Amino acid sequence: MEALQNLRGLDKILVPVRLTGKSKFVFQCNPGVPCFKLCCSDLFLPLTPYDIIRIRDKLGLTTDEFLLQYTEPFILPKSGLPIARLKMSENEEKTCPFLGDGGCNIYEVRPLACRYYPLGFGLFRNKDERRNEEIYYLVKEGFCQGLDSGEEMTVDEYRESQGIPELEKPIVEWAEIIMKKESLGPISVPEKSIQLFFMVSTNPERFRSFVFESKFLDMFEVDEKTLEEIKEDDLKLLQFGFKWLKTVLFGENLIKRRKESPAVKKVKPF
Ligand code: SF4
Ligand code: SF4
Repeated sequence: MEALQNLRGLDKILVPVRLTGKSKFVFQCNPGVPCFKLCCSDLFLPLTPYDIIRIRDKLGLTTDEFLLQYTEPFILPKSGLPIARLKMSENEEKTCPFLGDGGCNIYEVRPLACRYYPLGFGLFRNKDERRNEEIYYLVKEGFCQGLDSGEEMTVDEYRESQGIPELEKPIVEWAEIIMKKESLGPISVPEKSIQLFFMVSTNPERFRSFVFESKFLDMFEVDEKTLEEIKEDDLKLLQFGFKWLKTVLFGENLIKRRKESPAVKKVKPF
């Protein structure tokens, strides 16, 4: 194990190879591979808003408890937007807090980034076709023994096998917000905008209180059906939050403003 552990540090050079959904690659990962669990330490592991809800529920914690115990804030370098990432343990290997003897202790709700590995992914705007295009990368790290052995499959088949499409679909608009901010370049982000983005991205309980216990509903028109849905359903609340962020940050008119309000004006669009 120690020899393999050393491998973890020998080759951290990533060799990104650009792929499409139809591209094929060869990979296997199971408890029998000699490097089993080596990829679960010393990670930059970003959490999507949907990851946070699913892991929090699995652990039976409130969002505040989960964020405090397991995460730390991180500013995405290109967009300047803050997200939560998983805090690694304070042991020598900096292992993931969910790594157990038999593998991942939260396997069924493991984060999107873990499901993708050894693929990376991104979105970019195709200017000619005015739509977002998904791109994928094969991340080759020297310690991973599963690459180039096992089954050949397409990227789309691998994504399906990991349950990725159903976890990505509810957060498409969140990814679009980050991408849109990235495309605006290195402009400074108003502190208020940072706080709103972070609240919606990480903490549905706080965002729900913000909607129902502040002057939010005096400022924005929200129909009764939506209000009923977002009272109880965290995923619906998230999706409402993404539309609201697009409204206040980019001036997209997705949530109707009830009236001009000084409080709304304080949030400067990017
Ligand atoms: S969440 Fe699970 S799969 Fe992801 S790094 Fe941690 S132990 Fe590994
Ligand atoms: S094969 Fe790669 S992904 Fe699987 S356990 Fe080994 S290092 Fe991790």
